[in-house]
Amino acid sequence: MAYTPVVKLLRDAQPGEEVSVAGWVRTRRDSKNGFSFVELNDGSCMSSLQVVIDGQVPGYEEHIREATTGASLIASGTVQESPGKGQRIELHAASFEVPGTADAETYPLQKKRHSFEFLREIAHLRPRTNTFGAIMRVRNAASRAIHEFFQQRGFLYINTPIITTSDCEGAGEMFTVTTLDLEQLAKKPTEVDFTQDFFGRRASLTVSGQLEAEVFATSLGSCYTFGPTFRAENSNTTRHLAEFWMVEPEMPFCNLDDNMRLAEEFIRTVTKDVLENCREDLEFFNLRIDKTVLEVLENIVSHDFIRVPYTEAIELLEASGKTWEFPVEWGKDLQSEHERWLTEEHFKQPIILFDYPRTIKPFYMRCNDDGRTVRAMDVLVPRIGEIIGGSQREERLDILTERLHECQLDPEEYWWYLDLRRYGTVPHSGFGLGFERFVQLLTGMVNIRDCIPFARTPRNADF
Ligand code: ATP
Ligand code: MN
Repeated sequence: MAYTPVVKLLRDAQPGEEVSVAGWVRTRRDSKNGFSFVELNDGSCMSSLQVVIDGQVPGYEEHIREATTGASLIASGTVQESPGKGQRIELHAASFEVPGTADAETYPLQKKRHSFEFLREIAHLRPRTNTFGAIMRVRNAASRAIHEFFQQRGFLYINTPIITTSDCEGAGEMFTVTTLDLEQLAKKPTEVDFTQDFFGRRASLTVSGQLEAEVFATSLGSCYTFGPTFRAENSNTTRHLAEFWMVEPEMPFCNLDDNMRLAEEFIRTVTKDVLENCREDLEFFNLRIDKTVLEVLENIVSHDFIRVPYTEAIELLEASGKTWEFPVEWGKDLQSEHERWLTEEHFKQPIILFDYPRTIKPFYMRCNDDGRTVRAMDVLVPRIGEIIGGSQREERLDILTERLHECQLDPEEYWWYLDLRRYGTVPHSGFGLGFERFVQLLTGMVNIRDCIPFARTPRNADF
C-alpha cells in the first residue's frame, strides 16, 4: 500500500518527509488567501490529519470544491510542523485527487451530532463517525487480545459448527435451518416432515459451541472457540442480540475454582491490553459517552473480583430494602436489575456469583452434594450485569443421564456427549463470554446494537 496510515503519520512522521495519504474528508475550510485546510480521516485512528492545499497546487481551482464532507481524497506532499493547536504535524499537499465526491445535499453525515438510533438506520455509513470508528477499533483490539490470551496459555483455537442438530441449553429459542419449500408447506396444513429436509432431521443455528468444545477439551487439552452464536429470543433489551459472538474456553482437569480464576484473569488481562492499546479511543468514550468508562476499567484491572455464593447474593438482595420490578426469591433466576445492584451499588466492582439452584441451570452443570445447587458461575460487571456464564461440567455418567431426564431431554440424542463420560471422563470446566457485552463494557455504549458492525434483532436484519 502506497499510502501511509494517519495513525502512523501522527505518531512517527518528521517534518520534511514526503508522504501520500488517502481517506475521507471530514471538513474543509477555505481561507481567503487562496488555500484550503482539509481534515482527512482514514479510520486508522480517532484523529484526522490536517492537509493544507495551496491555490498553486495543480487542479486546485477546478477540483477543490469537490472535497466536501464525505468525499474521498488522496493527497501527496511534505510533512510540516503544525502551527495550529492540538496537532503536531500537518501535510502540505503538492498534489491531490478526489476519487469520489459526496453530494452535500444528500450525504447523511454532515458535521453535527446524530442520534445512535438514526445511525443504526445508516449502518453502512456509521463507521465513518468518530464513535463507530472507535468502537470498531476497540472491538478489533479486544479480539486480538483474546486470541493472544489463550494462545499464550496453549489453548487450542477450535471452530465449532454453526449449523447443529443439538440444543446446548435444552431450551427453545433456536433458529431453524431448512431448505424445505415453506410456501408449499404453508398450503398443506400437515405436520412438517423434517426427514425430507436437507439434513434429514431438524437443524438449527447454534446457540453455543460448548458441547463440541468439550469434545476437544477431553482429547486435545484446553481449547477455546470464538465464533457467532444465534438466539431467537424475542427480547428487545439493550443487552441482547439475535446474532452475537461468543468466546468459549473449555479446560479438562479443572474445577469451578480454576474456572473462576481463569475468567477473572481473562477479563482483567484483556481489559488491560485494550487500555494500553486504545488509549485515544477510550479517552474519547470517557469524554463523550460515559464519564465512568476509564474508572470502571481501571478498577477491573486493579482489583480482585469478589466471589459470592448465589444464596448469599439472594440474602443481600432481600436485605437491600429496595423494591424490585421482579421479586427476589431463592430458586429464581436473577434479573438484570438484581445483577446490576450487586455489582454497581453494593460491591461497586465485578463479582462472581456461584452455586446456583439446579432448577434454573442447564443439564450439563455439575451437581453439588446438597442436591439443590450446581457448580455454575456468572461474572457480573457494572453497567452490564452478566457478561460471562460458566460452570464445572457434570462428568459422572449416571448423574448426567439423570439430569437429562430431569430436564426432559432424550439421552439418546446426546449419545456422543455421554460417550465423553463413558470413555475416560475427567472433571472439566468452561465458560462463555458474550463478546458484544464485553465491547459494551469497554466503550461505555448503552446499547449492544452499537457494539457489532451490523446488529440482528427482532424485526431487524438490514444490511
Ligand atoms: P442472559 O440471562 O443475560 O440473557 P444467558 O444466561 O442466557 O444471558 P448464557 O447462555 O449464559 O447467557 O451465555 C453466555 C454469555 O453470552 C452471557 O453471559 C452473555 O454475555 C452472552 N449472551 C447471552 N445471550 C446473549 C444475547 N442474546 N446477546 C448478546 N450476548 C448474549
Ligand atoms: Mn448465563
